[in-house]
Amino acid sequence: MQKIRAFHRQSIEHREEFWRREAQRIHWHEPFTEVLDYSRPPFARWYVGGRTNLCYNAVDRWAQIDPDLPALIWVSTEVDKEAVYSRADLAREVNAVAAMLRGLGVGKGDRVLIYLPMIAEAAFVMLACVRIGAIHSVVFGGFASHNLAQRIDDAQPKLVVSADAGSRSGKAVAYKPLLDQALASCAHPPAKVLLVDRGLVPFDAVAGRDVDYATLRARHDGAQEPVEWLESSEPSYVLYTSGTTGNPKGVQRDTGGYAVALAASMDYVFGGKPGDVYMSTSDIGWVVGHSYIVYGPLLNGQATVMYEGLPTRPDGAILWKLVEKYRINAVFSAPTAIRVLKKLDPGLLKRHDLSSLQALYLAGEPLDDTTANWISEGLGKPIIDNYWQTETGWPILSAQPGVEDVPTKFGSPSFPVYGFDVRVVSETTGEDLGPGQKGVVAVQPPLPPGAMSTIWGDDERFVRTYFTSFPGRMLYSTFDWGLYDQDGYWFILGRTDDVINVAGHRLGTREIEESLNSHPAVAESAVVGVADTLKGQVAVGFAVLKDPAALGDAQRALELENDIKRVIEQRIGAVARPARVRFVGALPKTRSGKVLRRAIVALCEGRDPGDLTTIEDPGALEQIKESIKDNAA
Ligand code: AMP
Repeated sequence: MQKIRAFHRQSIEHREEFWRREAQRIHWHEPFTEVLDYSRPPFARWYVGGRTNLCYNAVDRWAQIDPDLPALIWVSTEVDKEAVYSRADLAREVNAVAAMLRGLGVGKGDRVLIYLPMIAEAAFVMLACVRIGAIHSVVFGGFASHNLAQRIDDAQPKLVVSADAGSRSGKAVAYKPLLDQALASCAHPPAKVLLVDRGLVPFDAVAGRDVDYATLRARHDGAQEPVEWLESSEPSYVLYTSGTTGNPKGVQRDTGGYAVALAASMDYVFGGKPGDVYMSTSDIGWVVGHSYIVYGPLLNGQATVMYEGLPTRPDGAILWKLVEKYRINAVFSAPTAIRVLKKLDPGLLKRHDLSSLQALYLAGEPLDDTTANWISEGLGKPIIDNYWQTETGWPILSAQPGVEDVPTKFGSPSFPVYGFDVRVVSETTGEDLGPGQKGVVAVQPPLPPGAMSTIWGDDERFVRTYFTSFPGRMLYSTFDWGLYDQDGYWFILGRTDDVINVAGHRLGTREIEESLNSHPAVAESAVVGVADTLKGQVAVGFAVLKDPAALGDAQRALELENDIKRVIEQRIGAVARPARVRFVGALPKTRSGKVLRRAIVALCEGRDPGDLTTIEDPGALEQIKESIKDNAA
């Protein structure tokens, strides 16, 4: 791994030279005057004074070179449709949508909230926004009205773009009622809603507010909408993610740094070149969808496959069928998807011609050895586990086949990626730890191009949240435990905070608790993440009822449990629905009133609850034990 090490060292020790070279990957309308302004740590401004545009670099530039090559391949096994958009087609769509947005009064710096299923229009709208300098904020389609309303109020968008419905397992999932509910409850509803009518679920349009996408699109066919050249640090988008509080954080991304970082990662991390075909099975509502369904592949001149559907429908060979059909070179998915496939016939992996496929990339949650071995043997392709976060925008740890081919170790996302000065530090002293020592994975700032520039509207929260975890040192905390071994391979060992990961979806336990507590029968609650063989983790809630009498009645308790789960699903979305909600008389707390979550998790996972010297009421822990006796989740 000599080359990877040297490459990484160069990116840290000769930071500006390194990133000046990489900046040549994109088109600059006006050159930058400085590679990095780090005069106000930890805020990093990359490519100061440079003017560029994400849409121009992802769409126009490539349409000029080879207009007939495919750019976006949309496949839906939900509604059984496919569409291939060439580079020229994509330019045409994006220009038309940009003109539509302008016509609806959207301009530079305005926010546009996108609440859409995995349809090609979602990519068009994202690209159209950045074309005109509007800031998009995509909210995962699986989120429900409360989450949506919170994000609308924080972003205060001028426009919301949505659809009648998504689809899951062939069944339509209505979006419009959730949106209407959210808009009715939020303080800053936008004046206009642009609606894609897929003809899946009938709905009533709100007169004067709701605008039909197709009608407007027809009116703007052939429009040419000029590019807004943004200063490199001007925001491209805000993407909300969960943390330790109930309030989601709007991760703000810049423009120039993101373009350079993604284009470089497509080459070094994903081994891609212009003309290749790339597929990520994520959703546009997550960071992987932003970076590796929409922007990354397109910025590098690669075609991207956007997939609406499950990896198991119509059967477990669908991903590989698409690889064969579209000659896909790299697939990016999550360990959960592979664990689901593992339950099916391994012969499904061999049914299609996979000769175009160079590697399978997996991220979003820990990749266990068994799953890694199974898929590696089944496909006969390299499996590349990469570790990163919404905040970083692109991988922090990964094998980097575009730099050097090095053997991987299952269970490890390999090595630090160039640009990230990653350390393992002591939780208490903040000192760097050596090989084999478990600590917190941290990054010595400045964060590289493409990483978050701040929290939307709250610089102070950005600094306080991410850079004040360690005494005497300003380090970015990933809030993940980790270590590296003697050979330099890194391992991620779970979160240090109250964030959980359900099937690759990041959720804050506090958000779920807030929804649980909104149920009128609940006095207080604790939600924890418990290990699950399929989903990685599942949420399990423990609730103290206002009227403990309900506890004695099994039938009543079951009804209440289902009712609480329904409330959570309606407020946050099905992803947050706890596997179980248990009822207890009290929660185990420390004398200072903090819930002993780690002890609860340990009990749920059949482990020793650990140090209990600070517990206020040991009886409460006994009640937890008692409540999980039936052992289901
Ligand atoms: P998100 O911001 O939703 O992408 O979630 C980021 C979190 O997912 C990280 O902080 C980790 O806890 C977890 N994660 C992401 N990728 C990996 C990986 N390859 N191995 C282990 N954990 C991961």
